[in-house]
Amino acid sequence: AIEIRGLHKTFGSLEVLRGIDLSIESGEVVCVIGPSGSGKSTLLRCVNLLEEPSAGTVSVDGVELTDPDVDIDAARRRIGMVFQSFNLFPHLDVLGNVTVAQRKVLGRDKAEAERVARRNLERVGLADKVGAYPEKLSGGQQQRVAIARALAMDPAVMLFDEPTSALDPELVGDVLGVMRALADEGMTMVVVTHEMSFAREVADRVVFMDGGVVVEQGPPDRVIASPEHERTRTFLARVL
Ligand code: ATP
Ligand code: MG
Repeated sequence: AIEIRGLHKTFGSLEVLRGIDLSIESGEVVCVIGPSGSGKSTLLRCVNLLEEPSAGTVSVDGVELTDPDVDIDAARRRIGMVFQSFNLFPHLDVLGNVTVAQRKVLGRDKAEAERVARRNLERVGLADKVGAYPEKLSGGQQQRVAIARALAMDPAVMLFDEPTSALDPELVGDVLGVMRALADEGMTMVVVTHEMSFAREVADRVVFMDGGVVVEQGPPDRVIASPEHERTRTFLARVL
């Protein structure tokens, strides 16, 4: 579970997050939508402390990440993150990409890390690509390797920031399919996405952000099909 309370983030004089309160239950899938610049990426980056919140608290499974006494590396390990750009290591093959952090960060030995890697590559449908280098893979395959790499760290929650935005349209479905399977397995997920059909079908809850605040949230059927706020309607009219 993720608890976000009174979260603010400013860059210089720019207030990007202006008081976000959000609770995400274990096993819940939350899709975050909203216009460019509304603070969606900053919100995710504050949840795994890639950005330091200016005010407010973030807790994951009861551990307050914003507590100065917390072991931040240990806490961050519980959070998997998948970005728009896949950020694979080009000089490592797929198995290397999925084992390196397990070995360096979790201290797993080679055999154990490879076992976990193969199991997670199986999950994303890439068991046959262990020896391939990233440049030989499609964008969709690279993104699925990035998902397997995050899963191999046994995260309590997975954060996705527009994971399909950089992909050719014909490759989007494979990645969304993997995410849907993860959701079905009960993974706690926060997904920033413009894929409204994914949000509608997979999300338990849709959160609409604009101007650094949560404007409205609720079940996808309600928020997407009959939004209460004018700003939500305006946004949806542009993306649907
Ligand atoms: P998009 O849909 O385009 O990805 P977003 O909702 O993810 O947008 P953010 O990336 O969170 O928006 O950015 C929100 C605002 O914060 C923008 O005005 C952006 O320019 C600003 N911003 C983000 N990161 C920084 C930074 N490191 N320094 C200064 N300003 C930043
Ligand atoms: Mg963004």
